[in-house]
Amino acid sequence: MTTASFLEEKQKYTQLDFKSFFAGITSTDVLRVLNTPHLTRMDFLTLLAPAAQKHLEAMARRSREETIKNFGYTMQLFTPMYIADYCDNLCVYCGFNHNNNINRRCLNMEEIKKEAAAISQTGLKNILVLTGESKKYSPVNYILSAVKVLREYFDSVSIEVYSFSLEDYIRAVKAGVDGMTMFQECYNKDIYKTLHPGGPKANYEYRLDAPERACKAGMRNVNVGALLGLNEWREEAFFTGVHADYLQHKYKEVEIAISTPRIRPCSAGYAPKSIVNDIDLVQYITALRIFMPRAGITLSTREKPDMRNHLVKIGITKISGGVTVAVGGHTKGDDGGQFEISDQRSIGQMAQMLYNEGYQPVYKDWQTLI
Ligand code: SF4
Repeated sequence: MTTASFLEEKQKYTQLDFKSFFAGITSTDVLRVLNTPHLTRMDFLTLLAPAAQKHLEAMARRSREETIKNFGYTMQLFTPMYIADYCDNLCVYCGFNHNNNINRRCLNMEEIKKEAAAISQTGLKNILVLTGESKKYSPVNYILSAVKVLREYFDSVSIEVYSFSLEDYIRAVKAGVDGMTMFQECYNKDIYKTLHPGGPKANYEYRLDAPERACKAGMRNVNVGALLGLNEWREEAFFTGVHADYLQHKYKEVEIAISTPRIRPCSAGYAPKSIVNDIDLVQYITALRIFMPRAGITLSTREKPDMRNHLVKIGITKISGGVTVAVGGHTKGDDGGQFEISDQRSIGQMAQMLYNEGYQPVYKDWQTLI
């Protein structure tokens, strides 16, 4: 029986003491889970325990098998397109935060057209649109006008913008948006409050509910995630998985995916509270895959090339290339942006790497008909 909202679902775990749970997990528990066909949420948490790191090889093997079984040797390629960086929020870890003194830009429709033309030259047929949160410079109408322009170049348009109301998600779907990404950033509410001291994003519950509003609005693909490093990563990994699992069970017609970004340096100068090393990230991705065999898993250019090449083979299904995190960066050049990226490879170079590893790069697997 599903609950009325994810907030209620999350509250079932209020008494969960992560430290004590992890302290009680042994190798035997991990091996039992690795031999279980369908994992419960507590099995997933078992695979996130420190004790599971001794079994990373076995986790990677099962993760790879589950990925190939469900997705074959294919990998979706995409690129983000920043169209505006005005922002009313005060996220302490972001270079676009309202108090950060940077030159702000907002592309007009002609500039968006040029960016779209430049990106579509790479062969990509899907695009992810990003903005900061500014009702003045990038209101919903502006974003939907941009979508209209982008639909001339791309068969699939996704948005990674601020939380919309249900009515606005319905409008977005009608305008041809078929995917949305919404990072809760930090599932721990107390820490969330300290990280988001002002602006509309300070409303934890409204953001937490956004992926569900998008599902209700008929969005085809909904992607959730935590920004790793803002809180102890195992707790964040668990709640990200629970969120994705909740949505996947409740909205069977929606393709649910998860992103696994680690925090990167940015002009806001925020120092991560919790270090998430490479082994931790591999543990998270493989545990997620074993728990949710059918969910998409996205990896961004926050990770270095070697790490990305490795993770292609053990769990992820979607990877970016030709990335700039600056507004208009595909045509005007990248003069700094939201954060520093670690992999500068173009779409063509990413495709070549995938061929070398025996994978088929996918430029398009979906087309919205409107
Ligand atoms: S993370 Fe998003 S909402 Fe927060 S300051 Fe940066 S652009 Fe604005």
